[in-house]
Amino acid sequence: MIVVVKKEHEEKQLENLIDWIKGLGLEVHESRGENSIILGLIGDTTKVDIDLLYSLDIVDTVKRIQEPYKDANRKFHPEDTIVDVKGHKFGGGHFQLIAGPCSIESEEQMIAVARAVKDAGANLLRGGAFKPRTSPYAFQGLREHGLDLLIKAGREVGLPVVTEIMSVKHIDLFRDVDVIQIGARNMQNFELLKEVGKLQKPILLKRGLANTIEEWLMSAEYIMSEGNKEVILCERGIRTFESYTRNTLDLSAIPLLKELTHLPIIVDPSHASGLSRLVEPLSMASVGAGADGLMIEVHNNPKCALCDGAQSLRPEQFEEVVKKIDVILPLVNKTRK
Ligand code: PEP
Ligand code: MN
Repeated sequence: MIVVVKKEHEEKQLENLIDWIKGLGLEVHESRGENSIILGLIGDTTKVDIDLLYSLDIVDTVKRIQEPYKDANRKFHPEDTIVDVKGHKFGGGHFQLIAGPCSIESEEQMIAVARAVKDAGANLLRGGAFKPRTSPYAFQGLREHGLDLLIKAGREVGLPVVTEIMSVKHIDLFRDVDVIQIGARNMQNFELLKEVGKLQKPILLKRGLANTIEEWLMSAEYIMSEGNKEVILCERGIRTFESYTRNTLDLSAIPLLKELTHLPIIVDPSHASGLSRLVEPLSMASVGAGADGLMIEVHNNPKCALCDGAQSLRPEQFEEVVKKIDVILPLVNKTRK
């Protein structure tokens, strides 16, 4: 980190500033030019409050040289992290397909979709039990009972399961869940992030509705700094001015994240577009951009779905997408075994 000190300052102020920085456990390298003094801060600058520095009278500018995240940073961990979910690997050339309904609605629906996506070639089963809905009057999910139905369906067809947690209070209920999803709305629920960071279970961390890539990586850092290094990032579209689609898929996030972090990154084309007909092209584009997996909403009867029917594929449409993905995976040096 570099701090440029204003030309007009008192020596005592500068001394105080340097002492304060040293008190944070950092070394200070001072270079005095004709017009300004530049302080180079050496050491772990993640603890430095950049806004506080800016607010000091004697500080002209502050520049971070190093990213504020460490555990998630590729600089300190050059090899890809591979997250292994019961033998299904994400990252490091391994690609996985997660599929299933937006919400778990009934035993019959869950078993039917589980069988269909398994037959079509999905590797993991998804389904929401605790649903984050904009309206409190909309279907909120089957909650605990939904979790039981999902786990049962996953066991019956032999697929690991992924489902969203919304509250710290529910952590114990997620014991038998294979991957815990932190949804877009909770990406910055820091208490929840810290708690799932204490688990030894893969976490699927979705990008917030309007969060930067750096904020997203800082959320991954919350989980990792508590000890849980098994984080899979999921780009699911961000809010923009465009209204034809529910969100705008930020494809550039994928190659950018490949540079910035060693964590696997998957894409959810269903929430990214809100339109079932866009799921296939966005899936293909995501694979081309380097995604390590996809999470796709599939329903056996989308017209009657209790949530997100408009973006859900029917099983036979999902099967078509799987076939196309499998054709292009070798071109991007990925395998789905
Ligand atoms: C979901 O995956 O069911 C979901 C609610 O997604 P998001 O958090 O991305 O909106
Ligand atoms: Mn959904």
